[in-house]
Order: sequence, then structure tokens, then C-alpha cells
Amino acid sequence: MGSLIDDRRVCIIGAGYAGLAAARVFSSNKYKVVVYDERKAVGGVWNYDLKEGQVYDNLQTNTPLVVMAYPEYPIVQAADAPSFVQRHHVLAYLQSYAQEFGLTRLVKFGQTITSIKPESKFDEDTRWFVSKQDRDSGAISTEIFDVVILASGNYSTPHLPSIDLHQFQGSVIHSRDYRRPCDYSEQTVVVLGAGPSALDISVDVASRAKQVYLLSGDHDVTESKIPFPSNVAIVPARISQGLGHALVATNGAIIEHIDTVLLCTGYRFNLPFLCESIISTNGGMRLTPLYKEVVSIRYPQSLFVMGLQRESPMAHHASVQARFILAHLEKKTPRLTMEEMLADEAKEVERRKALGAPIGDHTKFGFKYNNGRTLFRDYVEDLQATAKLGTVVPDVILDLFEDTVRKPVSELRRFRYRLSEDGKSFIKAYHCPFAS
Ligand SMILES: Cc1cc2nc3c(=O)[nH]c(=O)nc-3n(C[C@H](O)[C@H](O)[C@H](O)COP(=O)(O)OP(=O)(O)OC[C@H]3O[C@@H](n4cnc5c(N)ncnc54)[C@H](O)[C@@H]3O)c2cc1C
Repeated sequence: MGSLIDDRRVCIIGAGYAGLAAARVFSSNKYKVVVYDERKAVGGVWNYDLKEGQVYDNLQTNTPLVVMAYPEYPIVQAADAPSFVQRHHVLAYLQSYAQEFGLTRLVKFGQTITSIKPESKFDEDTRWFVSKQDRDSGAISTEIFDVVILASGNYSTPHLPSIDLHQFQGSVIHSRDYRRPCDYSEQTVVVLGAGPSALDISVDVASRAKQVYLLSGDHDVTESKIPFPSNVAIVPARISQGLGHALVATNGAIIEHIDTVLLCTGYRFNLPFLCESIISTNGGMRLTPLYKEVVSIRYPQSLFVMGLQRESPMAHHASVQARFILAHLEKKTPRLTMEEMLADEAKEVERRKALGAPIGDHTKFGFKYNNGRTLFRDYVEDLQATAKLGTVVPDVILDLFEDTVRKPVSELRRFRYRLSEDGKSFIKAYHCPFAS
């Protein structure tokens, strides 16, 4: 018989980058792991499906593939292969990772988690009732687990801006539901937003749409240096109102004959299966209370969250978090009281505020200070030191991440990124302007 800790049953929700990292770490440390995912395959957002999901057909990564690999399973690319790849390369990599480490057999697919409740409200070491619904049969069942790790992603609940579109008679969709440009053939499309999705989708949809208007608000999207096609007009304004098939912009412009408005306005956090009093989403903006952004301060020995932050190399981000959770459960992190954990959380918020980092609208790990140091580097170093993990994320990955994050992707795509043979530095080789 194994030790007590070996027998603990761990439930992981989500089989994307974060959930797979947790499954690998816990299964290789002899915990009994069950992963639930409502999709039919591993890979999370990288699964393309016409009816559900978040990725579109022509999606290309905006980060070099070499930083998208888990530390223990590097991606080996041919010398002439592009660094910024089509979505299916990422999915193939994740599927191969899951096969290689025997993770696929741990996943129960087609299961939507509907509720997670503590067995005891007062015991911070409580077990959890996890209820799930089978997507095919509709049957609901409940199982009990010692530990729950939420790795359910943060790209499923759209953030919808408060715009008066009640009288607008065209279609309004969120980028989550955008799939293919051919669905907008000969249409006049308004794209709202200025982030990577807005820029990318404007160009993509323009290949089939008659006319695209990119309403970029206060942002100067020309900084992206994207060669927009001639049928994309940039309007540096927001929508103030919709009427019939027209939109009035905040700069007074009236855009007429619009068929579709595409909202590329981001996502909110949502844990619909968990009571807000356990982890609050603060209106979808930020999850609290969490120690080191992973440990539930209310249930620090049994409830954890992964992969919440934006702008990070998720394979590495999730690897360090999974190892931190394991160390925490095995009591290799400092034993803090609830008050001490809350103080640690508040101190980090104050530190980031003092640096000028945005607080409240998720943690953006790509935020830079002191000549390019990122919040991601701070976070990784903090988790590694607090749990005495050694080096999980190599410096070269942090360097490469900092060299590429928040840079115009059209510029980045002119280069190929590789790790040097000794894996200690990276090579950035110019290949061809405007190539993929
Ligand atoms: C359009 C788009 C483009 C992106 N491009 C890049 C890029 O180029 N480079 C990059 O590094 N990152 C990119 N990202 C970020 C990407 O989300 C991360 O790389 C990473 O895939 C997130 O992994 P995750 O495991 O946290 O979440 P996810 O991949 O979202 O996985 C979560 C899983 O949880 C499951 N789940 C959720 N709720 C439930 C439930 N109630 N019951 C059961 N299962 C549930 C979902 O089905 C899903 O499989 C992009 C994201 C989007 C949306």
C-alpha cells in the first residue's frame, strides 16, 4: 500500500496546456489523477471546431514555437521551419506530449463540470464533491476528490462592452465565435478592438469581406506595422450607438451598410461551477483570494487554480505552477496562516501598482519595467524560490519571452527563433520579410 499522500485523489479540470502540466507532475508523483474536459480531445483552446471553441481557422501563433514547449519536452524544428506556426502544429504538439507521458488515458472527455462543493465548509483540508454532466447522455454524476486543480482556461466568457446596439439590425458576434473569412464574403464588417485578435482578424476577414472598418479606440494600431490590405480602414474611435445597419462612432463618423460587428474585446474570468464566496471573480476581472495566484486561501490544502494570467509562455508558466502546487501539498513551502497569505497577496498587488502595472484587469505577465524585465520573470523566480524548486523555467526561455512579448508580430515573423545547441542562449535569425 502507498503512503497516505500517494493515495490522494486529484481532480484536474481542463486538458489544455495548464491541465496537462498538472496531470504530468501529479501522475509522475504517484497521485491518483483524473482529468475532466468537456471537449473530445486534449489541447484546450488549440482544438479547432466550427461550432465551439475560441480559435479560428487561419490562426497563427504570435509567440515562437520554441517557447511554447514544456521544459521536459522541447520542440525540435527543422532549420528552415517557421517559428510562428498554424494552430494545428500547436495542437499536434500537445497531443504528442499527452501521449508521450501517458496523460491521455487520465482524461475523461465530454464531461462538463457543473459544480464543485467542499465536503466541509469549515475544514481548510476538506474533500470536494465534483459534479459533472456527460455531454452525450446528459447524465449527471458526482465524485469525491481530495484535491481539485482548476485549469479550465480563461478564454470562454466574452467581455462584452457596454455599447448601445439594441437598434442595430446586423449581426453582432464576439471573436470567440469567429471561424472563417468565407462566412463574411462580400460583407461590410466592423471589427472592434486593438489587441492581437482584432488586428489579426481584421486582416483575415478582409480576404473575403468587401470592406472592413477597424475601430481601434484610443490605440494607434499603425504601431503594429501590419501591412493592412486596402479594404481595411482604420477608425481611431469607439462605437457610440448602432441604428439599423449603421454605426455612429465616438469621433462623429457614421459607418453605413454594415452587415456584421465583430467584437474583439477580450474575455472575463469565469468559474461557473464554484461558489463566489470560495474564489471571487470580482466581476470577471481578477480571482481572489489566492496565495501566489494558485493556492485558494480559503482551502489552501485542497483547492488550486492554474493558468490565470495573460501574456505568458503557458507551457512554462503551467509547469512552474504545477510543481509549486505539488511542493505546497507536500508541505515544502512555508506554512503560512490565512492572514499571512492574504498579506502576501496584498503586498504583491501593491508592488505591481508601484511599478505601474495594471491591476484588476487580469495579470498581464508581459508588463515590463526596469529595461525590459517582465512580471513573468518575477513570478517564476518567486515560485521557484518559495518552494525551493530549483530552475524549472530556464533563463533562456525568460530571455526569449522578454525579447518577443509585446512586439509587433509582423516584425517578429521576419525571424526564426531557435535555442542554441547547449540550450543556454537563443538564436534569432532573419529569414524573409512578411514570411510566416
Ligand atoms: C485566439 C487565441 C489565440 C492565442 N494565441 C496564442 C499564441 O499565439 N501563443 C500563446 O502562447 N498563447 C496563445 N493563446 C493563449 C492560450 O490560451 C494559451 O496558450 C493556452 O492554450 C491556455 O491554456 P489553458 O490550459 O490555461 O486553457 P485552455 O486551453 O482554455 O484549456 C482549458 C480546458 O478546460 C476545459 N473546460 C473549461 N471549463 C470546463 C468545464 N466546466 N468542464 C470541463 N472542462 C472544462 C476546456 O474545454 C479546455 O479544454 C491564444 C488564445 C486564444 C483564445
